[in-house]
Amino acid sequence: MTFIDGHVHTPYCPHGTAAPMEEYVKAAERKGIKVLVFTEHAPLPDGFTDPVPEKDSAMKRKDVAAYLAEGARLRKEYAGRVDVRCGFEVDYIEGFEEETLRFLEEYPEAAAHSILSVHFVKTGTGWFCIDYSADSFAEKAGESSVEKLYEAYGRAMDKAAGRPFGELNPPVLGHINLIHKFRKRIRPETDPINWTGILEKAAANGYVLDFNYAGLRKPDYGETYPEPWMVAEAERLGLKLQTGSDAHAPEDVGRGYTR
Ligand SMILES: [Zn+2]
Ligand SMILES: [Zn+2]
Repeated sequence: MTFIDGHVHTPYCPHGTAAPMEEYVKAAERKGIKVLVFTEHAPLPDGFTDPVPEKDSAMKRKDVAAYLAEGARLRKEYAGRVDVRCGFEVDYIEGFEEETLRFLEEYPEAAAHSILSVHFVKTGTGWFCIDYSADSFAEKAGESSVEKLYEAYGRAMDKAAGRPFGELNPPVLGHINLIHKFRKRIRPETDPINWTGILEKAAANGYVLDFNYAGLRKPDYGETYPEPWMVAEAERLGLKLQTGSDAHAPEDVGRGYTR
């Protein structure tokens, strides 16, 4: 395993902590991590209303320039010590592909260091953030069924695996089975998602998988994303994995890597 943390948030994330970006770089240096990729949640596309109560899922558009500038400053400052890169965690939101592509076109350099993830799915009663809380997940599942939520997520992730943004598509596919985050508490009888199909599609499209350690810190999950059998399957398919902590605080940089 190389020493890379390819999935790191910053104070520009409204649901994270206020620690400055430099603190994350210092933590990486202390822990011997050679490559740190900032992947702040890209601003949500125009016309899409953040479905979480606090409306704090993503960074604000007005902060993008300052975020990228600080990333560039740290890249210079820490050259030869930590290879600092700056991209986004971009949401794949069905029906907002054009708006998302326009954003990627504005920041092609950052797009090359970005991750494509699915956090939002469309349900019968509107958009829903699948990883917000176990309570909201259970409540939403109660409105239709947990199978339906899984199916909606599986469809979106399958589309994301199809590399919908072409040349500007983020090269890394984020925590592919994030839908499992609350499964110790609520899960379908049988998982309706064709995970192998998604992995095959990701492999065919030249993706790298986010090997995300945040799942180990989640009480209702307790595994990496993807989970071990998917990792084995990914390796069989020739998919590369990139370690990422999904840190929203400096002390979480590289966390769990020793496992
Ligand atoms: Zn976040
Ligand atoms: Zn993230």
